[in-house]
This record gives sequence, structure tokens and C-alpha cells, in this order.
Amino acid sequence: MNYFNNYRCTRCGQEYEPDKPIYLCPVCSKTYQPGMPLPGILECTFDYAQIAQAWEEFCIAFPDANATQKIEELCELFSPLDKEHYPNLPVGNTPLICSQSLMGKTLYLKFDGVNPSGSYKDRASNLMVAEARRLGIKEIVTASTGNAAASLAALCAAAGIKAVIFAPAKAPPAKLVQIKVHNAELHLVEGTYDDAFAAALDYFATHDCLNRNTAYHPFTIEGKKTGGLELFAQLGEVPDYIFVPTGDGVILAGIAKAFYDLKEAGITDRLPALVAAQSESSDAITSYWENGVYADAIKPDTIADSISVKTPSAAHLAVKALKDSDGIGIRVSDEEILSAQKMLASRTGIFCEPSSAATLAAYFQTLEQAWIQDQAKVVLMLTGHGLKDIQAVKFDD
Ligand SMILES: [Zn+2]
Repeated sequence: MNYFNNYRCTRCGQEYEPDKPIYLCPVCSKTYQPGMPLPGILECTFDYAQIAQAWEEFCIAFPDANATQKIEELCELFSPLDKEHYPNLPVGNTPLICSQSLMGKTLYLKFDGVNPSGSYKDRASNLMVAEARRLGIKEIVTASTGNAAASLAALCAAAGIKAVIFAPAKAPPAKLVQIKVHNAELHLVEGTYDDAFAAALDYFATHDCLNRNTAYHPFTIEGKKTGGLELFAQLGEVPDYIFVPTGDGVILAGIAKAFYDLKEAGITDRLPALVAAQSESSDAITSYWENGVYADAIKPDTIADSISVKTPSAAHLAVKALKDSDGIGIRVSDEEILSAQKMLASRTGIFCEPSSAATLAAYFQTLEQAWIQDQAKVVLMLTGHGLKDIQAVKFDD
């Protein structure tokens, strides 16, 4: 039993039945050109009235439900797929740590490095593998800078499904090891993530498989919304600010979707302000948010490989999420990122990868601007484990 209604185009509003695989809006995607953000990304809509009723019944039946029970209920109510299809490898329900050891500020750290493959991407892979199982499809292809690929490889292994990966040759070695150890088929692509994205699309055109390219299938966003649902359950309220490491914009769009869905069902009445933490060399979404006009990042070159993207696939959705939530985009340097990474590791015990640390670096910038009130509830999304890229870590001696 689930409350999934249909797919709706985020550009033209056209709705599509969910019975067979569909990726972008067939009408809007005709305007797609390689090297541009994806047009006509679909979103899942639900029977929000039914969800509201089911949630109310849950709250009456279990008035003392703990965060884990609430997470389980919310993730089930807002899932487009039934539980039985999910692979046998637990994903999500990651810790939310309240820390006061970072410059004396109270911050909530959502650490997704504890997922099976060590990153937030497991949330999207989990749902895509479940969809493959529902449809009886035996193969999934994706392009990735490393984390989505490692994640897909792990979850496919758990479900006996073949994973086909197109990754830039310069992806961090640990991520390439993860892909191989889970027995995925790895194709190294000379060039950037954008080149790998195009190569995966070519493969998909000639093979009977699902395509997990981020934002391409609506479930990649649906999977990534579960982190937002968890924040609501763990805090017991909507946080005021959520800092999100942002490259292609899909995690940002996914977290925004969680709060749109909760609001639509009347479970909450407001949206958190979203902050896109971007590398200064991979800042297409921040520039788009500032200027109102899309342009590629000129030359992405950052230590934070997970957010190094020239053409963010979900740029339109990400900028909409920033605007709808009165959020902002912030650029941080590699130096700020590495310093934040060390501070997190040495003061909170959390070793996250550089892209995750961009959120703390961005938070420090907002302190200079006095944009956030002292009492505000601020969450930093730490989306990947530091062991995934040990070469990025630098020591003074
Ligand atoms: Zn459309």
C-alpha cells in the first residue's frame, strides 16, 4: 500500500501515469541539449489527504513514538514504492548530532557517511534498485563522480542486479575500489562528470536497463528527500536552516521535496531556508540564483570532487528550492573546505569528505554576515565519509 499518485513535469505541469519507467517529461525534454541542465524533470505526487489521515492515525496510536519509529512511518507514507521491493541493506535513519563544539555555536550535524557505501547517495540508489526489482529489470546504469556509483554498486550487489558505471578517470581511488569490489562494470571516461553523464545516456539508449543518472529518473530525487523527512522526525519540527553540499543540485532538490510534501499533507506549515554550499570554482547554481540566468561553471576544479560539476543537471529545481525557501547560495574556497573538514574531525569526531565540510565553511561565512539568528536551528548535511578521499586531507607537518 502506498500513496503515490503520478509523475508531474516540474516545467509544464503535465502529469504521467506511474505504471512504466519514465524519465524526463517527453514534451519538455525535446528541448534538451547536452551541456545544459535537464529540462522537464519529473516529480512524484502523492495522495496528500490520505497521507495526512494516516499520519494523524499514527500519531494517535503511538503518541510516544520515538524518532526512529516516526522516520519509518514518514518514509513509508511518502515512498513511491512498497517496502517489499527495497533491497536487503538498510539505508538512512542516520544520526543527527547536536554539537556545541564548533566555535561555540549549536549546530545539528546530519552524518550520512554511516550509510552502507558511506554516502547520502545510497538513498537514491536504494529506491532505484527497488524500482528495478519491481519491474524485473536486471541492470542499472549510471554516471557518477564516484559516490553515486559506489552506492549503486553496493545496493545492486545486495539485490543481485548488474550495475554499469561511467566515472571520470580521475575519481578518488577509494571510490573506484568500492565500485570494483562490489563487482560493478566500470567504464572510466576521460574528462569530467558531464562527459560521463553523456556516455551513460549513450549506453542506456542501446541496453535494456534503468538509468540512475542523477535527476534523470524522478526517483533519484525521491530517494534523496528521505534525509529531509528524517530531519523533521529527529528534530520534532522543521529546522530553520539546512546547509547542503551542492554540485548537481539533486540533494538540495530532494531535501526541498521532503518539506514540500510535508507541507502539502498539512503535517508542517513552513519550509526551512536552504543554503547551497558550493565550491567557488563549481558555482553554477549560486550564479544562476544570483543572476536569474543560467551559465555553466567556467572551470570546475576543486578538492571537493563530489560537488565538482560544470553543468548541474537539476539547476532549475535547485534554484527554485533556494527561492521558494528564502535560501541562498554560498561559494567557499578549497582552503576553507579543508580547514572546516579538520575542525569537524578534531572537534566532533566526524570525519566527512571535503564536499560535506563545505557546509561548515559556508556556515562560517554566514556568521560574518550575521544572517542567521542565534536561536535558529541550523543543520549541516554531512553527506559523505572522509575515508572515501584520504588524499584530499592535508597536514601541516
Ligand atoms: Zn513538461
